[in-house]
Amino acid sequence: MIQRSSRLDNVFYEIRGPIFEKAQELERQGYKITKLNIGNPAPFGFDTPDEIIHDMILNLRNAQGYTDSKGLFAARKAVMHYMQSKSVRDVQIDDIIIGNGVSELILMSMQALLNNGDEILIPSPDYPLWTASVTLSGGKPVHYLCDEQSDWYPDLEDMERKITSRTKGIVIINPNNPTGTVYPSDVLQKIVQIAERHKLIIFSDEIYDKILYDDTAHFSTAALSDDVLFLTYSGLSKNYRAAGFRAGWVVISGKKSIAKSYIEGLNALASMRLCSNAPSQFVIQTALGGYQSINDLVLPKGRLRRQRDVCYDKLTSIPGITCVKPKGAFYMFPKIDVKKFNILDDQQFILDLLIDQRMLLVQGSGFNWSKPDHFRVVYLPTVEELNETMDKLALFLETYKGS
Ligand code: PLP
Repeated sequence: MIQRSSRLDNVFYEIRGPIFEKAQELERQGYKITKLNIGNPAPFGFDTPDEIIHDMILNLRNAQGYTDSKGLFAARKAVMHYMQSKSVRDVQIDDIIIGNGVSELILMSMQALLNNGDEILIPSPDYPLWTASVTLSGGKPVHYLCDEQSDWYPDLEDMERKITSRTKGIVIINPNNPTGTVYPSDVLQKIVQIAERHKLIIFSDEIYDKILYDDTAHFSTAALSDDVLFLTYSGLSKNYRAAGFRAGWVVISGKKSIAKSYIEGLNALASMRLCSNAPSQFVIQTALGGYQSINDLVLPKGRLRRQRDVCYDKLTSIPGITCVKPKGAFYMFPKIDVKKFNILDDQQFILDLLIDQRMLLVQGSGFNWSKPDHFRVVYLPTVEELNETMDKLALFLETYKGS
């Protein structure tokens, strides 16, 4: 028997885990599954802006060769300007690495940093790739709680209490996946102070920074101090609905002077994978400049905003379900009354729902949430589909009594 590497022990990514596979099997049998499980905008009719597609086609002939390992100058310059517009100081072209999506850069950031047993503070709930990347890199993910009673903001006491001599950094996901919360500047400021006190790196995942509702402002954490090393992540997958193009970037800023060796490590990993997908690098400049079509989608009459409102209203009208209204991204993380429905295992609940109603959600434990009392909804389907799906969920819960 050929065994997989033990490095994969305890590495999980439930968003595409066993229940997802079960849904695929049902699809192969001819069933239609309503998918509220993956944050992939294009299949739901959220097209990549035309100018991006056009630019990629125009540049395809120029994109045949490898680029600089860190990425095309024009793409990095556009990212640099974007960071300057968010008040992040002292970002140079060389502080930016373009990757095959943020996913690749998250893993590279952990692999370049961690020795066995080094700890990284990660939110609970989290986007699970962070936890998986720390584990795969030999590190120990340590989860700090986010508090549902306080709009899912991080519990700062819990965060600070969990710092040890092995802690290397703090991950912030803002706007958050799976809760949809957006952190105000005073919350970010306090996290930055913790990082300053304990000399920790801040990894700020800001991939949803343009998907904001109700006039909510987004603050880039890296703008808040010169005394902390920041790695800030974003890309084309969500703000520009171009997840398949695999284009993302990481920006290194702040106290770079203390991180020469780490930055060399990151550059070495970037070189080893030669470069990221060249055609998509060519469109980064076009994407970041000028008219931003995402802004229309989040206006009161915009499609994303209407879907958020319908999904939230429908969900919270179901007896036994409560939810913090999201301010950003396209996810909700509702709470379900586990006593009322006798839910002991959230994976079983999601599986029962899939089999009974042909609807696919992801269980809260898939986001490193320790209790079986949450699940994640992706509200990318149309208002009509969301209405129909939430009605089915309500009907299912009328009689559901665990299993
Ligand atoms: N970070 C967060 C918080 C995400 O939700 C996702 C994708 O869902 C990613 C990173 C990965 O994005 P990419 O498509 O750039 O790899």
